Amino acid sequence: MERKKGKMDRLESSQRLNAVLSRIAGAENLAKRELGSTDLIAVSKTFDVEHIRPVLDAGHRIFGENRVQESQGKWPRLKQEYDGVELHLIGPLQSNKAADAVALFDVIHTIDREKIAKAIAAEMQAQNKSVKLFVQVNTGEEEQKAGVAPQDAADFVECCSGVHGLTVSGLMCIPPFDENPGPHFALLRKLAKQANVEELSMGMSADFETAIEFGSTHVRVGSAIFGAR
Ligand SMILES: *Cc1c(COP(=O)(O)O)cnc(C)c1O
Repeated sequence: MERKKGKMDRLESSQRLNAVLSRIAGAENLAKRELGSTDLIAVSKTFDVEHIRPVLDAGHRIFGENRVQESQGKWPRLKQEYDGVELHLIGPLQSNKAADAVALFDVIHTIDREKIAKAIAAEMQAQNKSVKLFVQVNTGEEEQKAGVAPQDAADFVECCSGVHGLTVSGLMCIPPFDENPGPHFALLRKLAKQANVEELSMGMSADFETAIEFGSTHVRVGSAIFGAR
């Protein structure tokens, strides 16, 4: 699903990156948070390497993808070309892709059931590689959306560590498309406290400043940097 775009678009992506970075700094400032306390994950899904390179050339190193297979076609060579890339898996994960996911990604945001937790734990052992983990929470309790139910979040985090020996760093959510995201961000923050985890993966192009106000540590921003998909 890679698409081709014009040269103008490539030039603009580094400018859009800078605009997003300064909006993040502004939101941190408003929320009286430490400058630089929010990581920007540049979500490059559907964009090919030619469109990702300008953002790497601008010095950015943290990227997100939502499909393992698509990432395998792009990131091994980009990781060779550029030092210090940190790659985040932000899309749903099947257990038969756990080995590939652990091999390629540094952070996985979408742990949401025991079968996946178990598969990831086994792969981290087999590959002797540690991957940072977030548990996805379905804060809107939407039928079609991945994630554990809010009332199960703390128990699931406990199960990941107690049963599977995993360290969960934080929680992740994708609020319902048509709702005010603030209450969902507030809920995720509350659940993280209950589960005793520090980090919050929340906020996308349309709402990352709101997410920072609610304590987001990782915003996942795609179209505001790369353009419309
Ligand atoms: C695509 C995607 C994003 C980025 O969305 P934009 O609206 O383009 O910023 C963030 N999080 C997840 C889970 C995504 O799939």
